[in-house]
Amino acid sequence: MENKITGVKELALEEKKVLLRVDFNVPFDEKGRVSDDTRIKMALPTINYLLEKRCRIILASHLGRPQGKIVEKLRLASIKKPLEELLGQSVALAPDSVGSETENLVKKMKGGEILLLENLRFHPEEEKNEKEFSKSLARLAESYVNDAFGTSHRAHSSTVGITGYLPSAAGFLLEKEVAILSKLLEKPERPFLFILGGAKVSDKAGVVKNLLARIDMVILGGALAYTFIKAKNWDVGNSQVEYDKLDLVKTILEDARKKRIEFHTPLDHTIATKIAADSKYLTTERGAIPAGWIGVDIGPKAIEEYKGCISRAKTVFWNGPMGVFEIEPFARGTMEIAHALGSASAYSVVGGGDSLAAVKKAGVAEKIGHLSTGGGASLEFLEGKVLPGIAALQKK
Ligand code: AMP
Repeated sequence: MENKITGVKELALEEKKVLLRVDFNVPFDEKGRVSDDTRIKMALPTINYLLEKRCRIILASHLGRPQGKIVEKLRLASIKKPLEELLGQSVALAPDSVGSETENLVKKMKGGEILLLENLRFHPEEEKNEKEFSKSLARLAESYVNDAFGTSHRAHSSTVGITGYLPSAAGFLLEKEVAILSKLLEKPERPFLFILGGAKVSDKAGVVKNLLARIDMVILGGALAYTFIKAKNWDVGNSQVEYDKLDLVKTILEDARKKRIEFHTPLDHTIATKIAADSKYLTTERGAIPAGWIGVDIGPKAIEEYKGCISRAKTVFWNGPMGVFEIEPFARGTMEIAHALGSASAYSVVGGGDSLAAVKKAGVAEKIGHLSTGGGASLEFLEGKVLPGIAALQKK
């Protein structure tokens, strides 16, 4: 798909007013300060490129889930200072994302200036991809660039509707995400290992099914592993199982067997009596989780086996933690996988907030080939779905 979308360098942008859709949906600490500015940093190459072209840059983003209403805590004002520090220049704030006041501010802009619009999702029309709202956004600018990969799986006014009214292109981050994820689907270096963890089979079955035609090994962890283990008729005690997904999981296992894919479920587990830091916990073999106990992490044998798979792989895609990694005693599996990826020779791609957090906590983020900024978007892309925000940038 990557050759088919228009890139930012293909638009004539000198001195133009450009609406740049970014993903500044960052996390905050208890004091209301940005606790992880990765998403802001990732947008800098495109912003700097537009600055070189002396563009008037109108930045548009959503933040959180205000559900179409003004929520004071979710104002984009909180992004202004960290953005200014990263850019080394001042950024003006607009009172709204559309409307006459904002339009007047844009009119006064000079080349090389930046205006940050208010949270797009304060307007319910944004998520409905409503025509008039799309037009109002488009009225602010002469060209449109989308660098918000994390929102590209949603057809909203600022990702899809607006492209109907302005010359449109993908920013560098979006182009890079599409190029890297396309390579995973089209020509990954083999063996290709998929590390899959997290909460639910239902969220990730689509991506497993699509990747089965491309991968050589799968290693499973997280809560979703117990549905697979149950499908193989091993005891899982009180671990989280999606009983309505047992048939689906059986078809996945059967397909993997036919395709001769190495499909690993954990050899052992850390089990606990409750998902809490003060719970009793111990290690047990696969198939031997007693009633009243819950699998909360992969065990030491599984960790060793999985490290072996990582060292044999040439390409790795990781999505989802191996256990309840928010609780220290149950974080070992996830952290060991992060460390193993950090020292592996394979080209690795990590997607999903929790896996990214683990990689950063392990201090190996620099050693990962690509940290995907869109958890949901990267999964849908690897499912083989056409993402509306990307389709909208396709060359006619
Ligand atoms: P996901 O968003 O699908 O990647 O799921 C991440 C969540 O799965 C995290 O909040 C983990 O705490 C949770 N999780 C991982 N392993 C388990 C487990 N064995 N039991 C319950 N929850 C889990």
